[in-house]
Amino acid sequence: MREQELKENLTNVEARVAEACKRANRKREDVTLIAVSKTKPVSDLQVIYNQGIRVFGENKVQELTGKIPEMPEDIDWHLIGHLQRNKVKYIVDKVKLIHSVDSYRLAEEINIQAKKKGVIVPILIEVNAANEATKFGVKLEEAKQLCEEISTLDVVHIMGLMTIAPNVVVPEENRGIFHKIKELSVDIANENIDNVDMRILSMGMTNDFEVAIEEGATHIRVGTAIFGERNYSI
Ligand SMILES: *Cc1c(COP(=O)(O)O)cnc(C)c1O
Repeated sequence: MREQELKENLTNVEARVAEACKRANRKREDVTLIAVSKTKPVSDLQVIYNQGIRVFGENKVQELTGKIPEMPEDIDWHLIGHLQRNKVKYIVDKVKLIHSVDSYRLAEEINIQAKKKGVIVPILIEVNAANEATKFGVKLEEAKQLCEEISTLDVVHIMGLMTIAPNVVVPEENRGIFHKIKELSVDIANENIDNVDMRILSMGMTNDFEVAIEEGATHIRVGTAIFGERNYSI
């Protein structure tokens, strides 16, 4: 049965998270599990919600705004996917965190729309750690400057960094990348830029979240391991 399957999946993920925290000498409560529910029906989300999960990640604005009214109000919704400037207005007052800011122009639009709605918007800077041509995100060496620029915007608050590591067969291969992003966040934190916080490190997905936790992730984004494979053909 679907419900049973989802419960077992979540139990397995929780066990893996707990083990990784133990290995890394970290407290379980210092790592937030984001259930990445893209392409999945709200009936699936509801099962996971009933198990106590309150943070969900979606990557498309339309899907996100469609699901929000269908689900309980005490959910923290995170936008984890690429965001186009013309869609910012639909979500600024609906999400708890935008993980995917990689340009000043986008941050500026978030600032404009946030002011209209009277909200403050926490964001992460997406870093393209492996410099992959197919991925969004700012280059590692440009992240600090982007933080400085965005820090001047009054209702956008940088809370940390996000990265999508390469899709590798052996998760261990991404350890170096996670380590670099952690170092970068410490570097930026040491700059003490006004209005820039580096408390969040969003990294690690189904394949590699254990390594990410060991390297300091505070937020892991897990889809497949909880909800099963995604089917994009339907
Ligand atoms: C889909 C997605 C995830 C989850 O990936 P899984 O491998 O299914 O865990 C995480 N982060 C982002 C940005 C995504 O788009």
